[in-house]
Amino acid sequence: MSQIPVIVWFRQDLRLADNPAVHDATSTGQPVIFLYIWAPEDEGAWAPGAASRWWLHHSLNSLDESLRTLGSCLVVRRGRTIKVLTQMVRETGAGKVLWNARYEPSGLAIDHSCSDALTALDVDVQVHNGSLLFGPADIYTTEGKPYTVFTPYWNRCKERVGQMRPPLATPRKLVSVPKALPSVPVAQLDLLPHIHWDTRLYDSWQPGEKGAQKRLKDFVKEKLAAYPTGRNLPANAEVSMLSPHLHFGEISPVQIVHAIKDRRKADDSEAAAIYIKEIGWREFAHYLLFHFPNTSERPLKSEFDRFEWHPSAKHLEDWQKGLTGYPIVDAGMRELWHTGWMHNRVRMIVASFLVKDLLQPWQDGARWFWDTLVDADLSNNTLGWQWTAGCGADAAPFFRVFNPVLQGEKFDQQGQYVRRWLPELRELPSKWIQRPWEAPEEVLVEAGVVLGEDYPKPIVDHSQARKRALSAYGDIRRASRTAV
Ligand SMILES: Cc1cc2nc3c(=O)[nH]c(=O)nc-3n(C[C@H](O)[C@H](O)[C@H](O)COP(=O)(O)OP(=O)(O)OC[C@H]3O[C@@H](n4cnc5c(N)ncnc54)[C@H](O)[C@@H]3O)c2cc1C
Repeated sequence: MSQIPVIVWFRQDLRLADNPAVHDATSTGQPVIFLYIWAPEDEGAWAPGAASRWWLHHSLNSLDESLRTLGSCLVVRRGRTIKVLTQMVRETGAGKVLWNARYEPSGLAIDHSCSDALTALDVDVQVHNGSLLFGPADIYTTEGKPYTVFTPYWNRCKERVGQMRPPLATPRKLVSVPKALPSVPVAQLDLLPHIHWDTRLYDSWQPGEKGAQKRLKDFVKEKLAAYPTGRNLPANAEVSMLSPHLHFGEISPVQIVHAIKDRRKADDSEAAAIYIKEIGWREFAHYLLFHFPNTSERPLKSEFDRFEWHPSAKHLEDWQKGLTGYPIVDAGMRELWHTGWMHNRVRMIVASFLVKDLLQPWQDGARWFWDTLVDADLSNNTLGWQWTAGCGADAAPFFRVFNPVLQGEKFDQQGQYVRRWLPELRELPSKWIQRPWEAPEEVLVEAGVVLGEDYPKPIVDHSQARKRALSAYGDIRRASRTAV
């Protein structure tokens, strides 16, 4: 057996099970070096935000721990990726480098340059797909174009879900290189916040492969059956909360789909199909950004380039702090701040409010999410914001403006979610919890709420704001017709 080492370069695939690069490298029987490179400068405008860095810190430690139990360890380096990788090859004499691809623009650019540089050094390069069910370069319409509508895209993929390969096993034992390689301690990467806003993140999450497997197991056992309604009711959160684990690759979609199919009972089959379809939306998001790489900055529907936003630092800040005066919006924004996550239904409500009621550019909302979400993911975030703003693929039409009061009354009828995140409104009766400014004075007094002091009055009037949004939308439609 050759003793020439091979390198596995970890990226957004921080797991050992069902990891194609790890599986192939360890199957060679050669010594394997497990490498992670911290190179935020290679990510351009989308270097990981504060919440993602928190997650990464813990996830890297967790991966190192798992590798150590198998007799190896994680080598962490810092610097421009291409420089570190080529230096690592020279230092170790490695003959082969394996990794799992990333599909967003910066990930692809790094992939290509590293692949070229290593090939020039006569190093064998193997790139796998470890993060998606379907490689985005494999699926086109019958006219050979990329899909821009979800349903036909998913219909095309769906039949292949049934024939999905089984997940790859975790290696049992690892062959290490004889000499320990220098490694930067994760703590020295300076990923944790200096101001301690992160205490509640520790209560909410267990980053790493073990935490991901536990979440999946609990979800399948306890929440899957309720998912069709749970995915709309933020108070119960009967959803999987696997998004950060998926983003960092601590679990793969192949593992999830198999777990859902294996554990499905007859009465769960509809819920299972609905859940797998959501995984399909994740696939679609990655597919779209792969084919339309500018969409993290620019709307897919180009007429929205002319949309007249009304940027206001004050409105943006009120929204970020959860001080808009609309309880469902504010509860969502505070959940995000405290836990790094927000229920999908509420993400749609707060995004619609920012873009349509406040006419703030969707890119400003996407940026805030990028910094505060533990699951911040360029593909999913871009899709979510463009979908809500009406300017993306298969988007909700712009004229569908969510009414934050009615959304609150429909999806948080008893106000449990609002009360959890806005303790200042806890004593308000359910009838007024989503519209405190309409509550009679004696009700407010009884609940101990002084509007404008304990909790803000609405910063805009929704029905006026709706009209203003529709008029701005009318302007770009007229302009596009004239342009034609
Ligand atoms: C404005 C906006 C921004 C968003 N930003 C992000 C983001 O940065 N990162 C992120 O992972 N998701 C994002 N989403 C999608 C969605 O809200 C989250 O994936 C979901 O709430 C995560 O919770 P969960 O894991 O419990 O989801 P579940 O309901 O349990 O779904 C399982 C998985 O399916 C995928 N998924 C579910 N819904 C969607 C969707 N609408 N689009 C794409 N994938 C989906 C996720 O990977 C999720 O983990 C955004 C949605 C909106 C409206």
